[in-house]
Amino acid sequence: MGSNKDSNQSSKPKILWVNVLFFLITGLFAVVVVPWYGIVEGYDLFQVVAALLCMGYCGMSITAGYHRLWSHPTYKTKNWIKVIYALGGAFAMQNSALHWSSDHRVHHRYVDQNDKDPYSAKRGFWYSHMGWMLRDYSGDRYNDYSNAPDLKRDPIVMWQHR
Ligand SMILES: [Zn+2]
Repeated sequence: MGSNKDSNQSSKPKILWVNVLFFLITGLFAVVVVPWYGIVEGYDLFQVVAALLCMGYCGMSITAGYHRLWSHPTYKTKNWIKVIYALGGAFAMQNSALHWSSDHRVHHRYVDQNDKDPYSAKRGFWYSHMGWMLRDYSGDRYNDYSNAPDLKRDPIVMWQHR
């Protein structure tokens, strides 16, 4: 019985502890430390505006940059805007633009095919939003960016990736 349990556990990809700790620590900050600070110390206008600006900057870098500019090249833009998106994407801590966009192209190509879509919704709510980042599900495919030759030629994408 013990060996059966062991073989089931070892068939799951290994846990990515850096990612698990990152989400645990930032999650605890968001649900405990931030409200606690607000109750004990209060937030002033500068802090509220700074938080909203940071949130907007990170959000735009992912939606307009990683998603619309780099994953699906829906428009072209100037290099200085790409640099702003590249810095904001790093600030948002959502991996490099090359990695994010390559994953996202796989997702669109194989939507909800559980063996190929990196965050298939058919594997459940938890898996498609969080679980896919907590274990090494991509394995050897992790550094395969063959679906993004255009991004590999983009010096700003590669500068940010390095
Ligand atoms: Zn998309």
